[in-house]
Parts: sequence; structure tokens; C-alpha cells
Amino acid sequence: DQLAELITTHLREIPDFPEKGILFRDITPLLADGEAFGQLIDLLAARYRGKVDAIAGLESRGFVLAAPLAIKLGVGMLTIRKGGKLPGPVIGVDYDLEYGSARMEIRPDSVRENDRVLIIDDVLATGGTAKAAIELVERSGASVTAVCVLMELLALKGRDQLSAYEVDAFVSF
Ligand code: IMP
Repeated sequence: DQLAELITTHLREIPDFPEKGILFRDITPLLADGEAFGQLIDLLAARYRGKVDAIAGLESRGFVLAAPLAIKLGVGMLTIRKGGKLPGPVIGVDYDLEYGSARMEIRPDSVRENDRVLIIDDVLATGGTAKAAIELVERSGASVTAVCVLMELLALKGRDQLSAYEVDAFVSF
């Protein structure tokens, strides 16, 4: 489909980043191509128009997708950030990584009660980040319509953590 084509033709794959053995999928070539970036946002907007009341971007590449999509759809954007970045009052969720742990936070007062929220990011890997984001949106009083990622790393089974939710991924590896 058009989204898959657009993403795969503008993707850069970087071996051994950020650590040896990891193949990093980099969307910056897509962002740097004004026409392609515009098409991406148009296609995403067509898919979610009328279905969501807010777009939640996950720091930091999710922000780059969430902001233009929110404007295009005429809805607000929420920022879900890594621990310690948002000025309070915040709520947070800690989750495990392969090595160590991470934390995501939201300002619940940025969320309108009962809004239908789309969570967006570039890549779904283990699903830990998306799962934390879902919990933050729900604890803030809104509901999650779907999790949207440009790419999904199937081997890491992120979807298994999100089985109660719609997960839209346009390219799978
Ligand atoms: P997860 O929590 O394991 O699903 O990891 C997802 C987070 O890691 C997202 O915020 C992604 O931006 C980031 N991530 C993981 N793998 C990649 C990759 O290959 N390219 C870009 N971001 C990645």
C-alpha cells in the first residue's frame, strides 16, 4: 500500500546503532524529503480523520509525526516524555528494557477527559514504551483509539503486550 511504499523507499538502515548487533531503522530521510513527509502526513490524516480527538506523540520521533498530524486533523497534540523532562505535575510509568529500565511521563492536565487518543511513534519494538503510553493516557481519563507506528519489529513481539488495542503498523521487519 501507499504508506508502506513511502516508508520503505525513504528508510535508512544503520547497523550496530546504538549498540553492536542492533539494526537501527532511521526515518530521517523521509522527514528530510518535504514531498514524502507531506504525503505521509496526508495518508495518516486520511486514515484517522474523524476518529480521534487528540494525538499523543512519544518522545522524540513520535513528536515529529504527531505535531503535523494533529494540525492536519484539527486536534490537539499531547507529549508523552521520558522521565524527568516534563515540568510537573506529572504521572509516570516505569517499565523494563532488555538492560535496565525506562520511564515515560505525561501531564494529566494536558488530557481532556474521555478524548479518543491516537498514540504515535516511529518504531514498535518490545512494546514497552507503547504500553506505558497507553497506561498514561488511560490514567489521565482518556481512551486509546489505536497505537500507530510506521514500523514494527516482529521478532520482539511488541503486539503481544498490546493485544487489547488496535495496533497499526505499515511496515514489518
Ligand atoms: P520498545 O519500547 O521496545 O517498543 O521500543 C520502542 C522505542 O524505541 C520507540 O520510541 C522507538 O523510537 C525506539 N526504537 C526501537 N528500535 C528502533 C529503531 O530501529 N529505529 C528507531 N527507533 C527505534
